[in-house]
Amino acid sequence: PRPIELLQAAQTATATHRANLPVKDAVVHWFKWDLRTQDNSALYLASQKASEAKVPLIGLYIISPEDFEAHLTAPVRVDFALRTLRVLKKDLEALDIPLWVETVEKRKEIPGRVVELMEGWGASHLYANMEYEVDELRREARMVRMLAERGMSMEVLHDTCVVPPGRLQTGTGKQYSVYTPWFRAWVRHVHEHKELLELAGLPLRNHPSAREKFAEIFECEVPEAPENKKISEEEKKRFKALWPAGEHEAMKRLSKFCDEAIGKYGQNRNIPANPGTSNLSVHFASGTLSTRTAVRMARDRNNTKKLDGGNEGIQVWISEVAWRDFYKHVLVHWPYICMNKPFKPEYSNIEWSYDLKQFNAWTNGRTGFPIVDAAMRQLNHMGWMHNRCRMIVASFLSKDLLLDWRMGEKYFMEHLVDGDFASNNCGWGFAASVGVDPQPYFRIFNPLLQSEKFDPEGEYIRKWVPELKGVSGKAIHDPYGRGAGAIASKAGYPKPIVEHKAARETTLAAYKRGIDSG
Ligand code: FAD
Repeated sequence: PRPIELLQAAQTATATHRANLPVKDAVVHWFKWDLRTQDNSALYLASQKASEAKVPLIGLYIISPEDFEAHLTAPVRVDFALRTLRVLKKDLEALDIPLWVETVEKRKEIPGRVVELMEGWGASHLYANMEYEVDELRREARMVRMLAERGMSMEVLHDTCVVPPGRLQTGTGKQYSVYTPWFRAWVRHVHEHKELLELAGLPLRNHPSAREKFAEIFECEVPEAPENKKISEEEKKRFKALWPAGEHEAMKRLSKFCDEAIGKYGQNRNIPANPGTSNLSVHFASGTLSTRTAVRMARDRNNTKKLDGGNEGIQVWISEVAWRDFYKHVLVHWPYICMNKPFKPEYSNIEWSYDLKQFNAWTNGRTGFPIVDAAMRQLNHMGWMHNRCRMIVASFLSKDLLLDWRMGEKYFMEHLVDGDFASNNCGWGFAASVGVDPQPYFRIFNPLLQSEKFDPEGEYIRKWVPELKGVSGKAIHDPYGRGAGAIASKAGYPKPIVEHKAARETTLAAYKRGIDSG
């Protein structure tokens, strides 16, 4: 069975027990990557349960350094989560809800510790939103049963996608593996199920006894980053300025984007020098914003209730947010992509290179291809990269350097503030042609043409590659090939580490050999 089926079976097996279980002294909501009070399905349900039973609701968050390690969580992402927790703690306190934050070193100790805490608080009911990675689904399946055996209960809800995984099937009852028909089905489904865009309310004010009974929880402080995810003081300052934390920031950014930029999203979204995208991925990935809230606000700005009609910018943006759902649906249905395997098994035999010198040139933004280097430097500085550039650098790594795409996927996760397993894995699968609904393998981005098309004036390159500031005109895209070699060389900018045309031929041959022998 798929991990989600294990969880569903556990929830079904314990449903009667859950329905009949009387509420003891408290109800607990376990926060994970759903760090918000607004439109949070499980939090709202937990608060209703607590309110009906007239007992306090407690929020719980567990920091696990080993878990961060296992998920390759970037230090910038951990920093964002911890800063967000401080905002969340205050927001919850305004509703008299305490938030307990605790560090549990080992991942396998998390379930036991949650049970211990619940017993200590006299809590009977645990709520959480579902995370679709294999380890999390399996853990939650075990926890649902374990809590039931101990006279408690756990309910895990769909929340992070607009349409829960598993809902959409092709006419023959299969999971979609191509985005376009899937998107049509997604739109239809949302139109037919209006409740999918109903927002969950704010949690209700907590029972008055909470402050006295759980004073110690109100006093607990959100710790600093664990040793394995520590960042320097300079990075702390930089990330704080770049990525203001918390759900209010997310709402502010969403409103501003919907007021000022969404209408032109279709035209501007591919220009990395132009801030034409929403920059909301960090909020979706951390759960400081729900995709329901976002899609609903975008739709409400349109002159039609149709998600695929009206203003072009709004339509395109909603369809981009839907890609996030699509990839989560793919992960749930084909969980083996969590196990380092390509979605397309016939691409398992490609002989990748593991040349560390080339890989380091790529990670450090020193490949001699200005658009690639600008993008990698943006990632290293911000923990974020524009989508067009993510495609360019991923294609460059897998198809110009023929490096194993998994090296790039891992590097991205280790550095992205919006690192999300499904979107990242499938994004890499798309660019390297080994994933779901991918770019055909023989379509190989020419970095020079991409640069000319999407950064025509070289603004983005000049911003991130200061060595090339003095290069004017079209030479910015290829300084050594277009007469600006002296300036580039004097400024210490490297020559191209590969020749694109030759690399293209090598790659086509390697893919073909791999597929033929697969
Ligand atoms: P906008 O253009 O404003 O789009 C709105 C939202 O739609 C995004 O915030 C995101 O949630 C979703 N979205 C847009 N494009 C995609 C897409 N192609 N796939 C999935 N969701 C999408 N996105 C992540 O959130 N986390 C990742 O780890 C991640 N890794 C990627 C790796 C590669 C190789 C590629 C090609 C793409 C990856 N993406 C990832 C998708 C995309 O690049 C980012 O979501 C986007 O750049 C975020 O910027 P934005 O919020 O301004 O996006």
